[in-house]
Amino acid sequence: VPAPTRIDADVAVIGAGGAGLYTALAAAEHGATVALISATPLAQTASYWAQGGIAAALAHDDSPQEHLRDTEQAGRGLTRHSAAQTLVTEAPEAVRHLERLGVHFDADRHGNLALGLEGGHSKRRVVHAGGSATGRRVVRELSARAVETDSITVIEAKATDLWCHEHKVVGVLVETGRAVRSRATVITAGGAAALWSRTTNPPGSTGAGMVLAHRAGAELADLEFLQFHPTAVTGIPRREGFLVTEAIRGEGATLHGPDGERFVEELKPRDEVALAIHAKLKETGATHVGLDMRRIDPGLFPNVVKALSDSGLDPAKELIPVAPAAHYMMGGIVTDLHGRSTIPGLYAVGESACTGLHGANRLASNSLSECFVFGARAARAALDEPPPAPTAEPPPPDPVEPPGEQTKDAMWRHAGLERSQEGLEELAHDPHPLARLVAACALARRESRGAHRRRDFPDCDPGLDGYHAVVGGNATPEFRAWT
Ligand SMILES: Cc1cc2nc3c(=O)[nH]c(=O)nc-3n(C[C@H](O)[C@H](O)[C@H](O)COP(=O)(O)OP(=O)(O)OC[C@H]3O[C@@H](n4cnc5c(N)ncnc54)[C@H](O)[C@@H]3O)c2cc1C
Repeated sequence: VPAPTRIDADVAVIGAGGAGLYTALAAAEHGATVALISATPLAQTASYWAQGGIAAALAHDDSPQEHLRDTEQAGRGLTRHSAAQTLVTEAPEAVRHLERLGVHFDADRHGNLALGLEGGHSKRRVVHAGGSATGRRVVRELSARAVETDSITVIEAKATDLWCHEHKVVGVLVETGRAVRSRATVITAGGAAALWSRTTNPPGSTGAGMVLAHRAGAELADLEFLQFHPTAVTGIPRREGFLVTEAIRGEGATLHGPDGERFVEELKPRDEVALAIHAKLKETGATHVGLDMRRIDPGLFPNVVKALSDSGLDPAKELIPVAPAAHYMMGGIVTDLHGRSTIPGLYAVGESACTGLHGANRLASNSLSECFVFGARAARAALDEPPPAPTAEPPPPDPVEPPGEQTKDAMWRHAGLERSQEGLEELAHDPHPLARLVAACALARRESRGAHRRRDFPDCDPGLDGYHAVVGGNATPEFRAWT
């Protein structure tokens, strides 16, 4: 095997969703040279698929403190206060920065930013672009900027391994026989919800970044907390798992059981709504509940309405069949408030990272804000890293095997909306490393909290308030409190 061709950059960024693009641009703004590595085309990122928007306390009657209260309430006693405080304080400036970068957010008829309402938010605070096309608009604008920026080199290939030297990450190995050597390497490779068979996520979101980081010795945490989105389309060919944004419920859409009756307050936080639907499906044997959006102005959510119409559903006339699906990984690579992982030289931002901000249940639309707030912070911190010492040639890569269908089915069966000791013990022997780590964390957390529901431990254990299940090299979770 020929030695990889070496590229030198100040910062290597793995993944070009919202977190990767923004981190790369922020680092370049501070004068860094950046290698931006992306395995998939833009349309295959969760960021591109984001519909609802970006949460920030921008309304006159809102404040970061109220945003913080809602975030902590949704997080079910597990939100890391310092991370949530950072997010709510810095999210408004991130939105303004995106506007300066050329993103046009929707405005009301007075020319002010139009703010949407989503579950768990006590105020309207979600900015959006093109109605439910927010992710697409933001990613397009940021990627156009990245391509135009001379100091950013875009490498369209998969990162296969981290390049480690003397217990430090000094770069990354790339599929096409290239290796990037950098002062800081930032994992922005997205989440892991596509490790579950029924998902709203693009197929690449299987936690590859988390596996790479763990193999290199970084700690992961909170892997038992995978958010199930309540309203993903089901039973419609080629649209399985298509997400119908919560913002539609924010505008008044309602959920109905097979008897046509409402059974849940639609704007409760996601864990509650998803579990209420799950219980209704179990009780009635139905495969879906109905989402009634007949009174919603279709002009507000054009791409959702178009996708449904293309599948032969008429949201103006009929109820949409929906059921929960795996949606968002709250856990990930443990980082501090500047994106630093637990090993030198390695950073993580976005859904790959776990700042503790989302606790046991993410508040809707806090994740895009997280990509930008913590992307900016990581970019600044990365530039303080010393240049890597001259090292030997990069090692041969040892690629991460993607999960097979059996793993995905096992994740849905054993680490789904309700879990049990027996199921999780079976999952603990799965061939995929991340599936085993999820099982280990879910087995260790002998309680029910937020998105993690144990049939055998149905109550929340107040003794675990604020305690995160952290897995390091020996893969045995340890509960730690974070400040
Ligand atoms: C349908 C849907 C709707 C959503 N709506 C919202 C919303 O309205 N508001 C909100 O806040 N959040 C929303 N979310 C969640 C949010 O979109 C994600 O949490 C966020 O976009 C994650 O961004 P990211 O940059 O971390 O990851 P992603 O956007 O998923 O990007 C990951 C990138 O990493 C790349 N990658 C992965 N592995 C490798 C590798 N080995 N080598 C190189 N590159 C790699 C991928 O190709 C991709 O470019 C939604 C999610 C989905 C699925």
